[in-house]
Amino acid sequence: MLNRYNPTKLPIITEMSMKNQPLIKTDSKQSWQKQLANAYRQPNDLLKALDLPIDATHFSEQICQQFSLLAPQAYVDKIEKGNWHDPLLRQILPLNDEMQIVDGFHFDPVGDAEAMVGEGVLHKYQGRVLLVTTGACAIHCRYCFRRHFPYADANAAKDNWAKSLIYLAENKRIEEVILSGGDPLVLSDQKLQNLCEQITAIPHVKRLRIHTRLPIVLPDRINQDFLQWFEKLDCQKIIVLHVNHAQELGVDVSKVLSDLFAINTLLLNQSVLLRGVNDSVLALSQLSESLVENQVMPYYLHLLDRVQGAAHFEVSSKEATMLIRQLRQQLPGYMIPKLVQEIAGQPSKQPVE
Ligand SMILES: *Cc1c(COP(=O)(O)O)cnc(C)c1O
Ligand code: SF4
Repeated sequence: MLNRYNPTKLPIITEMSMKNQPLIKTDSKQSWQKQLANAYRQPNDLLKALDLPIDATHFSEQICQQFSLLAPQAYVDKIEKGNWHDPLLRQILPLNDEMQIVDGFHFDPVGDAEAMVGEGVLHKYQGRVLLVTTGACAIHCRYCFRRHFPYADANAAKDNWAKSLIYLAENKRIEEVILSGGDPLVLSDQKLQNLCEQITAIPHVKRLRIHTRLPIVLPDRINQDFLQWFEKLDCQKIIVLHVNHAQELGVDVSKVLSDLFAINTLLLNQSVLLRGVNDSVLALSQLSESLVENQVMPYYLHLLDRVQGAAHFEVSSKEATMLIRQLRQQLPGYMIPKLVQEIAGQPSKQPVE
């Protein structure tokens, strides 16, 4: 048993990831947009960078056509070279497994198509509304329930968000607006600032929440320009990150998380419980501890949404419950995420247990 409370020993994982990071960050002068443009899109390039042989038993070109590979360098830097089973690699590598058609796995498992009240506005839960600000992400997570989502029809940005803003302004019980996607932080500062300022100008909106993976997978997105305008927004700011494994939290990520914390952003994290990624008490406890070290509170641990193509990632609710119970015996209560699942038609995420 390793001494998990000794910070010099804790992140075996982080030590390893740092070894993989270049000593001189050659891309540190590239803008985040450029880094995104240069992200890995071809499995062959990715495998080569990771010293892995091009091996068709491990990845699928065909599945790439359906949902392409996408991963920025900052994320790829944290993958252990030569390891097919690396928990970060598993999240992005298109596998043959995704072609299996499995009963009970659907194309829109959370009923988003039905809940859409207007272009890009999802109003499923009381008091809060989710805006699909863009269909784009900086990374393609293979288990994502949005892999089949009809984004073309769900892009609130089409008319500069005018219709969505009218909806928000007219519904006085909306206290919190959640920017989601896709990933809202792939939008330019100009667009995002404009949208955020219009939202926070609505008197009944108290909180602005952003669901994003960019501070994790493309940390340079959180640059001084962003911090400057974001700090000035006139409402409470919440960022819900998406980290599944402690290895995703390198020194570059820690830096931007402390920048966000320093401008009074409440930082929360949601993860998905994924077979072969974080389905162990050790992985989950290291994740919670690393998050808290970075001032991020574990919020949700989601059971996989049963989306077609992601069945091989599933962990049963029974096993998930066991993992959470064991985690509770090891960690302080505030480090335990709520184990939840999304059930279409329900008024909130549903607790599992
Ligand atoms: C998950 C979700 C939310 C946020 O739910 P919280 O429990 O407040 O985190 C809001 N709207 C929609 C449509 C969602 O899917
Ligand atoms: S929406 Fe989130 S989980 Fe889905 S691909 Fe984008 S970053 Fe990954």
